Amino acid sequence: EVGKLLYDNLDNKIVEFDTPEIVIVINTMKDKVELNVNPLFIYGRYLKLIRGIPQTHWTCKNCNGEGCEECDFKGYKYETSIEELISEKTIELCGGSEVKFHGAGREDIDALMLGSGRPFIIEIKKPKRRFIDLEKLENEINEFARDKVQVLDLRFSDRDKVRSIKANAQMAKKTYRVKVKMEKTIESDKIIELEESLSDITIDQQTPNRVLHRRSDKIRRKKIFTFTVENIEDNEFTATITSQGGTYIKELVSGDNGRTIPNVSKLLGGIECTVLELDVVNVDSKY
Ligand SMILES: [Zn+2]
Repeated sequence: EVGKLLYDNLDNKIVEFDTPEIVIVINTMKDKVELNVNPLFIYGRYLKLIRGIPQTHWTCKNCNGEGCEECDFKGYKYETSIEELISEKTIELCGGSEVKFHGAGREDIDALMLGSGRPFIIEIKKPKRRFIDLEKLENEINEFARDKVQVLDLRFSDRDKVRSIKANAQMAKKTYRVKVKMEKTIESDKIIELEESLSDITIDQQTPNRVLHRRSDKIRRKKIFTFTVENIEDNEFTATITSQGGTYIKELVSGDNGRTIPNVSKLLGGIECTVLELDVVNVDSKY
């Protein structure tokens, strides 16, 4: 049929039956031919070097992007996003109508993403060019997003990989470094005891109050592998926490009014504890 016909007629083109790049839909009943260009997928890992930018474009909810008083008539809540910083040069190089960003989980807006980076896949709809130089793209993105976001290890990918990075994000180990502020100064022995009581345990986290508007209210069981303490100074200390993906770290510290059990605040005798700074220092990328 048509695939074979094309194969015979196009000397330099390879006709791929399983994962085609272009699908030509020929409707013989209506004498209509449609050309569907399949999206292009590029995998990579990103580092986020500054605080205060979201992973994806944040449309103002109040006006749905039309512009209102709440968003200063801009239609969005943040000037830029990781998605936009990566997309700009990608669209420039590949052409295409639209870009969709798939992250292996996401960090908080005020958190840095360091270490070997977080896996992502960028999906380019209706690309005009597929065989682009990924090293060139990497350099251009990193130049464009300098001091904000950096990408590494770009590779061509596919839709299956989007599914797998999303599924793995909930399982993969992540390491965080958090600066904790306590309501008051307490004996440092008490703080060091946290290493014992919070390592190699399972915690129950009910959906945090701050994300209840977008996630269903339920209890998630998460594994904490290691919890280490350093730099104890007055009413502050730094903790390095390795846990299962999807653990809400701020709530592990504050307790979120008893919605996360156990928690640092309770273990320190019920004093109020808050996260001043949170960085993701490693995402275990076995995928
Ligand atoms: Zn608005």
